[in-house]
Amino acid sequence: MDRQTQSADMHAQLQLLAEQFAKRLEEELPQLSDRAQRLQRSTDPTDKIAYLQALHEQLHKLAGSAGTFGFTDLGHQARLLEQESQQWLSSLELQRKGIDSFIDQLQKLAGTLDLSAMVTPAPASVALPLNSATQENSRLIYILENEENVGESIRRTLSTFGYQARHFTCTRELDEAVAQQSPDALIVDVNLANDRQSGLEYVSSLLAHLPQVPPLLVLTTQDDFATQLQAARLGAVGFFSKPVDAAKLEIRLEQCFAQQGGAPYRVLIVDDDYELASHYRLVLDSANMLAEVVSEPSRLFEAISQFSPEVLLLDVNMPGCSGTELAQMIRFHDDWIRMPIIYLSAETDIGLQMNALLKAGDDFITKPISDKSLITTVFARAQRARLLSNALSRDSLTGLLKHADIKEMVAVEQERAVRTGKPASVVMMDIDHFKKVNDSYGHAVGDNVIRALANLLRQRLRRVDCIGRYGGEEFLAVLPECTGAQAVKILDEIRKQLSRISFSSEIGDFSVSLSAGVASCIEMEAGALIDAADKALYAAKNAGRNKVRLAAI
Ligand code: GH3
Ligand code: MG
Ligand code: MG
Repeated sequence: MDRQTQSADMHAQLQLLAEQFAKRLEEELPQLSDRAQRLQRSTDPTDKIAYLQALHEQLHKLAGSAGTFGFTDLGHQARLLEQESQQWLSSLELQRKGIDSFIDQLQKLAGTLDLSAMVTPAPASVALPLNSATQENSRLIYILENEENVGESIRRTLSTFGYQARHFTCTRELDEAVAQQSPDALIVDVNLANDRQSGLEYVSSLLAHLPQVPPLLVLTTQDDFATQLQAARLGAVGFFSKPVDAAKLEIRLEQCFAQQGGAPYRVLIVDDDYELASHYRLVLDSANMLAEVVSEPSRLFEAISQFSPEVLLLDVNMPGCSGTELAQMIRFHDDWIRMPIIYLSAETDIGLQMNALLKAGDDFITKPISDKSLITTVFARAQRARLLSNALSRDSLTGLLKHADIKEMVAVEQERAVRTGKPASVVMMDIDHFKKVNDSYGHAVGDNVIRALANLLRQRLRRVDCIGRYGGEEFLAVLPECTGAQAVKILDEIRKQLSRISFSSEIGDFSVSLSAGVASCIEMEAGALIDAADKALYAAKNAGRNKVRLAAI
């Protein structure tokens, strides 16, 4: 489906939802009027309170939803009457005169359904920093650094990681290169000794001429407040004091690109108002997010487990249990502690909002919310959540899963293999004679080798495969729906590729090799499989290293 058809299709779906909502109003407004009449007729104070409460709830819902479906005026009126009903409820003095005029207004509201006044919402369009078309391994990085050896060392490191890096010592050279081809990222030194302007002044005028602004990383010997502010104003995504650790620079670059081209953010919407929740889902889908709806609160935990949302949008007033109670229950589970919870509620009372936030939850959005604000708020939250989650669960040197997390993934995949009957393969890898690399070329160069292998694994394995750093220079991976023989074949290719990479160091170039053990068996438990892969790895080491071995199970 092309973008235009997709947008037309979404518009049709939004319209359908708005029509369904209008139908609902045709039933709900007479109900409102009926309740108002009962309130007027009743003489028993307990009954009166019950009718008022029901009216209050109905008005609250209407105030939060009508605007979203184009009934802006109706929503506004409902909000005013909701506030009035709240006052009646808290004063509990239902004087005849005042309540009569309230009921009068209710009747008017109930009689004003004018379907022709409905404005069908058009699909929102918000400029979000989304997928760049460039492939990871062909990304073009320009480095502006007047110190020859510093720039060269950064270029070399980035090249080792598969980037196409070019180093320039003056602005004139960079101007010429940019005129030929725009880079995918820019690395710029603030202090350019031979140029009249600072690196940041130069970048400011350069960026103004580029059709699309690439990620900017700044290198500096001045890390004072003013320089950082200047970098932030130019939209820099990284700020590095010299001496610069090139590997860290590369980590930041990779984070930027991962954000640009990563999987869509997953958002779970919990709201008992199905049409409203579906409207939010469509709006978020249109901004390339993946949204799902739960309209029955008791199904929430199951949905979180299956969908693993990165952001939760939670309605506050729902029958059975409140959003705040749900949020408190979610926080009982350590596994979900990182997931931001945003209340999406028609509640406008700041005091009540604060009370909810004190119990659990991270933010409050008031309904009705415009489609654009919804997209921007949820996108910003999701982006931040993913960044934090990666920082916590990923190994900082390689960006791979940490020891405990990869072990857990082996267990998850093994359980899946048992369910589906399709075997998963477990692979244990270890770099050969790595101590010698550290001893001969230094620890920093050793780190580069570890990262290079991590990147190679990421590039060569599939998206569904999980890779972790098991120990120092030891890696563990689990490959779902992959037989032992298939895994051995893939690993052997990776082994050959790694041995062909030429690593640079101050005392010369060198290469490294890898040994790997593979184990695959549906009947075995995850722990036993990892042990079997480990034994196979040591068989590979004993057979002379630079080999892949399959465990005999
Ligand atoms: P083998 O072929 O038998 O695996 O020999 P090896 O030298 O690779 O094995 P060994 O396990 O004895 O040495 C691993 C070395 O890896 C020791 C340790 O200092 C180094 N190492 C562990 N973590 C890191 C790291 O994060 N960075 C660097 N540079 N070195 C590390
Ligand atoms: Mg080793
Ligand atoms: Mg080792």
